Amino acid sequence: MFKIVTIPGDGIGPEVVSSAVQVINALEKKYDLEVSIEEHLFGGASYDVHSEMLTEETLEACKNCDAVLLGAVGGPKWENLPHEKKPEAALLKIRKELGLFANFRPAKVYDALVNASSLKPDILSGTDFMVIRELTGGIYFGQPRGYDENKGWNTMVYEKYEVERIARLAFETAMKREKRLVCIDKANVLECSQFWRNIVHEVHKDFPDVELTDMYVDNAAMQVVRDPKQFDVIVTKNLFGDILSDISGMITGSLGMLPSASIGKNHALYEPIHGSAPDIAGQNKANPIATIASVAMMFEHSFSMQHVADDIYKAIEKTLESGMRTADIANSDDNIASTTEITDAITAKLEVS
Ligand code: NAD
Repeated sequence: MFKIVTIPGDGIGPEVVSSAVQVINALEKKYDLEVSIEEHLFGGASYDVHSEMLTEETLEACKNCDAVLLGAVGGPKWENLPHEKKPEAALLKIRKELGLFANFRPAKVYDALVNASSLKPDILSGTDFMVIRELTGGIYFGQPRGYDENKGWNTMVYEKYEVERIARLAFETAMKREKRLVCIDKANVLECSQFWRNIVHEVHKDFPDVELTDMYVDNAAMQVVRDPKQFDVIVTKNLFGDILSDISGMITGSLGMLPSASIGKNHALYEPIHGSAPDIAGQNKANPIATIASVAMMFEHSFSMQHVADDIYKAIEKTLESGMRTADIANSDDNIASTTEITDAITAKLEVS
């Protein structure tokens, strides 16, 4: 029995999570799986009821399941709350509480969408790499932090164990792929980065089959748009990963296509990388593919059922090949499909394949 907690959140979150649940139900039947799905409030939806973005009840549920599926949180309604009450603070808290220290973001181009990117098709075609970002340390959590009327300050700090565990995960991921890892840092300027690099090289001794390259983050940002095919696996700290994973994602098409997995020792959370898209919320326009692909990552990482994950990816690919597109990935002459239409098409392809 797989126990999944869904936290749809705000804006388009409930729409795309409902699509993902439809896919999970289809897989349950197809593969005779036993899956329990329990829904909880999070973000603005929780704040409106409990005056808290993340309640103890939701947190406990997330700690007592096999995997969490999150939609998106936030929106204009909650933008003016104090910093510590904002949805972003709740997202940081849930990652920290669940110990989700590694964020995986695939940057993979679907052949059918090679023209949807801002990059030229010949540069992009065949791109397939994984960005692994450290998620619970570095400057986003370091103390001291704060600001007064004269200055603002944050602290970039990493402990040895924090670098070791993510480096190990990155080398293990590279071993399952093309065995090439690029460590991205700013070791020419930041002592914290030099430390990070030293530890990654120490861990490398346990993975001699992986080719390890160092790259400065400013160069990496250029390389991702100049020649994305050169990458297999990237590992980097929280701040740099935040930016690089967005660039890497965007070159492959729309925000609506991009899944992610956040992994810890005992817990895992899967979510699309996009936000709550208040501009299209409630209109059946959202692209659910990022969330459905997040379910594929869940089957891959949390349930070790690669064949089910591959089935989902194939159903997405076939649906795109059939020409079906939500507005965010459509060309001007395409018929535009709604969230529910594209979800039905993907589900139908799963059932017949
Ligand atoms: P956003 O990702 O919500 O939207 C950016 C643009 O992309 C919008 O035009 C939106 O319509 C479009 N878009 C996003 N997802 C889409 C999808 N699945 N299908 C079709 N189009 C899609 O980013 P934003 O506008 O900067 O933020 C909106 C709210 O979401 C803010 O409150 C922000 O704080 C929050 N946010 C939450 C998360 C999260 O929950 N992890 C991440 C980012 C932003």
